[in-house]
Order: sequence, then C-alpha cells, then structure tokens
Amino acid sequence: MNINEINRLRTEIDSIDREIFNKFIKRKEITDLVISYKNKLNLSIYDKQREIEIKSKLKDEFSHLINPIFIDNILNEILLYSKKDFLERNFQNINNIIDLINIKPFIIAGPCTVESREQINEIASDLNKLGIRILRGGAFKPRTSPFSFQGLEDEGLKYLKDAAEKNNMFVITEFTDSRQLDELYDYADIIQIGSKNMFSYGFLKQIGKATSKDRKPVLIKRSFNATLNEFLLAAQYITNLGNPNVILCLRGIRTFEQIDSKMRFTPDLASILELKDITNLKIIFDPSHACGDSKYVIPTAIAAINLGSDGVMLETHSSPETAISDGKQSIKPEELTKLIDYINHNY
Ligand code: PEP
Ligand code: MN
Repeated sequence: MNINEINRLRTEIDSIDREIFNKFIKRKEITDLVISYKNKLNLSIYDKQREIEIKSKLKDEFSHLINPIFIDNILNEILLYSKKDFLERNFQNINNIIDLINIKPFIIAGPCTVESREQINEIASDLNKLGIRILRGGAFKPRTSPFSFQGLEDEGLKYLKDAAEKNNMFVITEFTDSRQLDELYDYADIIQIGSKNMFSYGFLKQIGKATSKDRKPVLIKRSFNATLNEFLLAAQYITNLGNPNVILCLRGIRTFEQIDSKMRFTPDLASILELKDITNLKIIFDPSHACGDSKYVIPTAIAAINLGSDGVMLETHSSPETAISDGKQSIKPEELTKLIDYINHNY
C-alpha cells in the first residue's frame, strides 16, 4: 500500500462520479423522449404509479445493501432531475412570483368574485390539480351599478389568500383604494388595477410608491376607451416611481361593434403585436372580459398566445351558472385542459 495506490483509487472514484452524472443525463434524454411521445398520444405526462413501481423494484433489489431511506432520497433527486423541464413548464416548483411570470406563456385563472370560503377553496383546489399557479379573484369589485354585489372585501381577500396558500398558488387581486395598499398589501402577490381605474392617476401614483420598495408586480388593465398610448402612459406612472414589474393586460375595447355584436367588448388582440414593438413590459390578454362569452374564451386565449402574449387571464368558476358575477363568460376548470394541452404541445 502506498500513496500511488490511493491516487489510483481516487482516479477510479472520479471516473465513477463522472459515469453517474453521464447516466443522469442519458436518463433525462430518454424521459424527455417518453414525454414527447406521450404528448403526441395525448397521454398524461405525470405517472405517479410508475414512480412508485420504480422505487419499490430498486428497494427490493438493493435494500439489503443500501438503506431504503437513502434509496428513496436518491431516487427522488433522480426523478426530479429527469422531469425538471416538464415541471418547469407546469410551473410547479417555482416559489417566486417574478420567476413565474417570466415563464411564457403563464396562466392566471379564478373566479370573477370571491363569493365564499367554500367557493374559492373548491376552485383553487381544482386549478392546482391542473398546475395553475396564479389564482385570481375579486374581493373589491368596482361594479357599474352601486346596487350590484360589491365583493366580500377584506374577508374575501383573506379567503382568497388562504385558498391560494393551501394550494401552492399566488394571488392576484384588484385593489381599488389606498386603504387596501396600507392594510392588505401582503394579501396580494400581484396587485391588479382594474380597467375602470386605469385613469385614476392619483391611485396609480400611490401604487407606484407603495410597490417601489419590493417591486411587487402590478397588473394594469386597459380601459375600454383608452388608446394604446394612454395605456402605456398609465403604466409609466408606476414604472417611473421605481417598480419595473408592470404587466399590461388587454381586455377588450368598446367600438361600434358593440352596437350589434354579442361580444361584450372588441377583443384588441392585434394590440399585442403593437405593444410588443413599443414596450418591454409584459403583455397579457383577458379573453373573458373581452368576449363576454365562455364559448369564445379558449380560442381567443390561444390566439393571444400565438400573437406573442406573455400570458392569459381567464375567469374560471366551478359552476358558472350560479356565479354571482360574470358567470356567462366564466369557463369551468376542466375546460382549461384544452388550453394547457395546446401550450404543452406548442410552447
Ligand atoms: C376583473 O378582471 O376582475 C375586472 C373587473 O375586469 P376589468 O377591470 O377589465 O373590467
Ligand atoms: Mn369579471
């Protein structure tokens, strides 16, 4: 035994380590192939049963030599590495809202209004099962009529946050006054400015100031009668105060179409192209408010994504027929699978 022998063994260890890593890479290449075939055959990608079988076979074979807990831990890492890209596509393992909105295209879904604790828990759980990570829901509703339901306010926002946390989701919700910025700031992961407040310059400044410290994302919706330039300038009230994380949301504009079209607004889809040319801010599309009818929502969302939209926001309700607001334009969560499949096949 001499130092040369130790060095020889160490070289062998180094080469085994390299082999292990090369095997990791090879394994991932093969799982990627399986995922692409499954995609083509419209089969579900994630197969929990198969993972259980892989683990139990290896434990049967090796647990007399290697501690089964250790086998489990190693396999968890290997399986995670193999499905890394798939998980990222589904946003599952991302714990930061900024990272999440940097993956294109991202989906925001949830009801128009938070109606009750049960309602928001149910929809959040269904959306989580589909891999949706950003939950929308209005607690303060700027309704056209003062006689319409105005939202569950603070209580609704608490239900929303709670439902999101239970389901590994982030919250986007509309704020309508500065009191919410002071008292309820932490309940929103993205602050929404509604189309009706796009012109409220005093409020925009307050939001810009409040979010300049942590650069919390702010989503601003285009007013139905704002020009693109007015829309951009409204966003700049916030970016100018030091928060660059502003998302522009197109949601339909009012044109002469509304004289006899059944669409609630005219979907301003091509504005995605123009905005992409003139700003680096993220641009997303809301087909629910733009079309006003659930049957047009998915095709319009797909069109928006194909035009380069960074994401889409869709009103989703477990039983749209009983929704307190905007039921007609709300889709059921299962309808989202059409959109998710489309994205998985094409992006
Ligand atoms: C909403 O998204 O909750 C909403 C009220 O839409 P808009 O501000 O576009 O009317
Ligand atoms: Mn709505």
